[in-house]
Amino acid sequence: MTMTVNEFKEEMKQRLKEKYAMDFKDASPQEVFHVLGSVVKAYYSDAWSDTWKDYLRAEQKQVYYFSIEFLPGKMLKSNLLNLGILEVVKEGLAELDFDLEDLVDVEKDMALGNGGLGRLASCFMDSIASCGLPGNGNGIRYDYGLFKQRFVDGYQVELPDEWLRNGNTWEVRKESKAVDVRFGGQVWMKEMADGKLKPVYENDRILRAVPYDTAILGYQNHIVNTLRLWSVEIPASQEDQYRSIDDRRQFEDLTAVLYPDDSNEHGRRVRLAQEYFFVSAGVQSIMRYFKKLNKPLTLLNEYVAIHINDTHPALCIPEMMRILMDDYELSWEVAVSITTKVMSYTNHTIMAEALEKWPVELMKDALPRMYQIIEELDRRFVATYSGVWDADLIQRTRIIQNGQVHMAHMAIIYSHSTNGVAKLHSDLLKEVVLHDFYVLFPERFNNKTNGIAQRRWSQLANPEMAEVLDETIGKSWRQDSDDLKLLKNYVEDEAVLTKLAVAKQHNKQKLASYIKEHTGIEVSPEAIFDVQIKRLHAYKRQLLNLLHIMKCYFDLKDNPQKEGNQRVFIFGAKAAPSYTYAKAIIKVINECANLINHDPDINGRIKIVFLENYNVTLAEQIIPAADVSEQISLASKEASGTSNMKLMLNGAVTIATLDGANVEIRDVVGDDNIVIFGMTEAEVYACYESNDYSAMKIYEESPILQRILNAFVDGTVPNIQYEGQAVVDSLLKYNDEYFLLRDFASYVAAQEQIDRLYSDKKRWQQMSLLNIANAGRFSSDDTVMRYAEDIWQIEPVEKYTKKRT
Ligand SMILES: *Cc1c(COP(=O)(O)O)cnc(C)c1O
Repeated sequence: MTMTVNEFKEEMKQRLKEKYAMDFKDASPQEVFHVLGSVVKAYYSDAWSDTWKDYLRAEQKQVYYFSIEFLPGKMLKSNLLNLGILEVVKEGLAELDFDLEDLVDVEKDMALGNGGLGRLASCFMDSIASCGLPGNGNGIRYDYGLFKQRFVDGYQVELPDEWLRNGNTWEVRKESKAVDVRFGGQVWMKEMADGKLKPVYENDRILRAVPYDTAILGYQNHIVNTLRLWSVEIPASQEDQYRSIDDRRQFEDLTAVLYPDDSNEHGRRVRLAQEYFFVSAGVQSIMRYFKKLNKPLTLLNEYVAIHINDTHPALCIPEMMRILMDDYELSWEVAVSITTKVMSYTNHTIMAEALEKWPVELMKDALPRMYQIIEELDRRFVATYSGVWDADLIQRTRIIQNGQVHMAHMAIIYSHSTNGVAKLHSDLLKEVVLHDFYVLFPERFNNKTNGIAQRRWSQLANPEMAEVLDETIGKSWRQDSDDLKLLKNYVEDEAVLTKLAVAKQHNKQKLASYIKEHTGIEVSPEAIFDVQIKRLHAYKRQLLNLLHIMKCYFDLKDNPQKEGNQRVFIFGAKAAPSYTYAKAIIKVINECANLINHDPDINGRIKIVFLENYNVTLAEQIIPAADVSEQISLASKEASGTSNMKLMLNGAVTIATLDGANVEIRDVVGDDNIVIFGMTEAEVYACYESNDYSAMKIYEESPILQRILNAFVDGTVPNIQYEGQAVVDSLLKYNDEYFLLRDFASYVAAQEQIDRLYSDKKRWQQMSLLNIANAGRFSSDDTVMRYAEDIWQIEPVEKYTKKRT
């Protein structure tokens, strides 16, 4: 079923008339966007219901991907591409005197996530549908997404993201699928007439969870899966419990905001309630579906897989136990065996503050039945393994320790699979971070290197490069990104190298206009576009990047005639609102930008551009224009990274430490096509071991570091009295937790290497081409297929199965 341009136009006119009673010449982009949304929804509605019916009829095993964050960005173009009508719609709109891009501007960027974790969940949704896998997302419909970032006098200011203000075209409210979720109060077990124990609740609160479903379209395969996001309401039956407005608001606010920081105390109670809310609603709705299948509960794991994306949804485990025991009256032993077989867990970080723990008192108070079950999960774990393993090991791996519930421990012990997100990270989990658990359950540990939805990050974000690829290697790469490797055959083909370079140049011109429009800064598209885009965090070391920029600055001040390439250093990063140090770094970068961009001695040789409000939409504009990809976290700290993959796919050359998936990128492109620097993970750990690192010593022996750090505090860089001091203190007084000074010299050498490579145009173009050609390895299509085979044991819908290697 395809639509012609004329059919599309007629449909649009008809609907515009119905909805707004007007003609196209009078319609605003806003109105046309809404009409287009309804045309697109109508276009996939049959496939959506067919997909569901097919799964049901085939009694297919399905996966439910539970994630407290999803970061889809805009969906219009992605939906059009996946439906195969992007070109038809573009043409049709043009004939109606509308530019598709103007409608894209109307769409809100859906940002129900902070960064990599949420973006991964969204890439997986796209790939699960595109591979024809029966899978659903389960999360929270926050009224406000991640804050909007503005800079005022160089400081980050956070504004609310009212993404629902004009409605959300893509969602469908499913009133009839609402479920009740219970909070607080007291609970005790009462013996029933038949001798069974049943929980009795008192003074508890019931809230209603209403699902909003969003269609997730597979790539031109007639598959439409569902992302289900839950929103809180006060049930009509409970109205009288909420006497004051404040009382109501306290509960209605449950799904109001996404917490932009997992590490602060404020709002922790609400955060815990959010976790239980979407978990309970999701698990209940799965069980309701399973009941329809009329199968014995002991076979649940042959029909349902639940994936716990990081620890936030780990309450899936006690919630499933609760339902199986309290509602279906199964024994503990049977319930625990079913639960363990259904659940699987992904660990996303080794950063200590992200290994989630909840105070026992809080858990008991907010979720008393959950706490009872968790206590029993813990008690039985100890009882089962004591005597088998040494007592210290058991104590270290317990779920409840020192008055805290360790969510990761629960997720590992009561699931059948724990995976890391890149080879290095998974090894580190086994050998160091989760070693005790690896001793207990070696067979459960596995690696699934992250991936990216390549269609969005190449075809949609970079149409000009996509066209060159079509002309060079045919179109099969659009379906199967593995075929990008065909490009390797053209590494000596000057014509192809030139075409790719021209596409890059056009993308750089476009970004230069964006920069001019949004910041007023003029940058030359001839300069190297050097890009670091990711959340602002000390371990990601944006500050190391800045130290190098300041070195370049002083070199040029001393020697204005110095030869070399022009460079534009481009940043995009939000800092968590309570993360003072990260915000100080933003301020320092912005003030350095001010100084350098306006210094006549520098004369534009280097520029710093810090773009506001980094999000998926901005990423789509920056990435196609990047020459250099900065992946410079301290080795061992970045679990995988995914912007490294997006940038590589768009022909940027990576400058990187051997951290996360950078290691695997180096393995596929080879040492000649990436620039590696810095300590290795082994060196980092050896340094922790010997405990003899002295940042001060490095500083005292390095005149250039002295000059740079002094500039932060002596007024050379103006307006950063406080922030400059904070930065210098972190490095010298607190001994540089992330070894920036230790890696500085090696980083500078690597940057000089980048400069030399870029100066050899052909060599650079070849590197760029080989990065594109090898990026197919990091398609999330492949990643989710490995999850499907190894962890979820689900299969693609047969009629849509395509050959995979
Ligand atoms: C890909 C992406 C990230 C993750 O970036 P990393 O460099 O892997 O941390 C964060 N935010 C957005 C908007 C992204 O698109």
